[in-house]
Amino acid sequence: MEGNILILCYLIGSVTFILGLKMLSNPATARKGNLIAAAGMTIAIFGTIFLYQDEEGSKLGNYPWIFGGLVIGTVIGTLAARKVKMTAMPEMVSLFNGMGGACAALISIVEFNHLVHGAGDAGVYAADPSLLFYELNGSTLLIILLGLIIGSVSFAGSIIAWGKLNGKIKDFSFNGQHIFNLALLGIIVVLAGYMIITRPDQMILYFYVIFALSLLYGTFFVFPIGGADMPVVISLLNSFTGVAAACGGFLYDNKVMLTGGILVGAAGTLLTILMCKAMNRSLKNVLIGSFGGGTKSVASGPKDQGHYKEISLSDAAMIMSYANKVMIVPGYGLAVAQAQHICHELESMLNEKGVDVKYAIHPVAGRMPGHMNVLLAEADVSYEKLLEMENANDEFKTTDVVLILGANDVVNPAAKTDTDSPIYGMPILEVELAKNVIVNKRSMKPGYAGIENDLFFRPKTSMLFGDAKKVLQDLVSELKNV
Ligand code: NDP
Repeated sequence: MEGNILILCYLIGSVTFILGLKMLSNPATARKGNLIAAAGMTIAIFGTIFLYQDEEGSKLGNYPWIFGGLVIGTVIGTLAARKVKMTAMPEMVSLFNGMGGACAALISIVEFNHLVHGAGDAGVYAADPSLLFYELNGSTLLIILLGLIIGSVSFAGSIIAWGKLNGKIKDFSFNGQHIFNLALLGIIVVLAGYMIITRPDQMILYFYVIFALSLLYGTFFVFPIGGADMPVVISLLNSFTGVAAACGGFLYDNKVMLTGGILVGAAGTLLTILMCKAMNRSLKNVLIGSFGGGTKSVASGPKDQGHYKEISLSDAAMIMSYANKVMIVPGYGLAVAQAQHICHELESMLNEKGVDVKYAIHPVAGRMPGHMNVLLAEADVSYEKLLEMENANDEFKTTDVVLILGANDVVNPAAKTDTDSPIYGMPILEVELAKNVIVNKRSMKPGYAGIENDLFFRPKTSMLFGDAKKVLQDLVSELKNV
């Protein structure tokens, strides 16, 4: 009876994961989707704790340890999620992802020891270790090793990514690092294959050498990647963690763990592909290129491109208040300035003056997928006002004023015209189709890609320098007087 209820719990868990993931793909339902999947996970966890029985009918036990861990994890997770700033979200995701990888690796370590030491009595093992190890099933060993390798790579890589994003770890690379990494990976695969096929006497030694090399590989895999490319790598590592967790599902014949792991693995892979596509870069280029990293291949200082013109706050307020349609283009700078709330206030004021205000959202604006959607949702901007890139591009020609707030690469025309540009081919927001373009940023410095933006020097463009939050506050004050 209890077994059937547990199966039902797992079924509910699996269904809610799928439902939650589906709902996450739309900003209007994302929050609910997250809660539904979390509720499913809670049911699966408590079902396992109270209903699981092994073949001999014994329950899990160990309740003080289990609940101690649950309470500590819940408190840390809740505090971290409440405290984290939007711009620090990628590093938090990375840290949590690393914990998932560590869990998967720990499962493999625990189960390996379980199998090895549970396969016979210690006396027989001491007399002839090889006999014992033959009792280990080959496919079980394969799953254990996969979980160990992928989980350890994900853990070490995520921790390095976390350190790089918060500035504690600097980019590090040496000549031939990619070959070194490939060789390391090759050694891990060969050792694991040898272990599965031949079951050598020193299995335990092999196991821990593979573990150590996997940690080393994860570290060196992420070290050379440009700091700003981390979101793509984190998404990739996230998919690794999913696969590692799915290995745990195989090992325990636990359907919900398997479903959850596969979903995370698939979603992480799809997200990685989408991010690369939106930046028009191959995954190989992200992993071994230095774009966006410490070593920029392109000039980062402004070159002489003629003159740009500036616009005063009062003029900017004036042309927006007399416009029929204003399109706001949010970018990374808006997130850094935490200007989303005041931006929403500006939108409301313009609405009161009869101006139609919408937002043009580029898929890789900011530093993580959906960054701008989450940021604006936090300020209660209505979802209907957020236009995806294709729709926004259709609407620019009927727009009077485009107000660019801390965005740069996502509006850079070089992506369309300059074949030598590192962002050539990346789809951009075609803001120049509008009648006027106002660009707010603090200086003429480049954005993430480290390249010039010719848009700033075009006749339709006016620069409105300053921190996005301060400029928007001043614009709101000006609008009160218009
Ligand atoms: P960019 O990084 O191109 O530009 C941001 C601009 O904001 C800078 O030029 C900066 O100029 C300005 N800025 C910084 N702080 C402030 C501030 N306080 N107030 C006003 N302006 C400020 O951002 P975009 O959003 O246009 O482009 C995102 C980039 O990130 C793309 O190249 C994309 O490929 C990349 N990327 C995105 C990922 C994603 O998932 N979204 C993942 C990985 C990379 P100044 O210093 O002069 O103020």
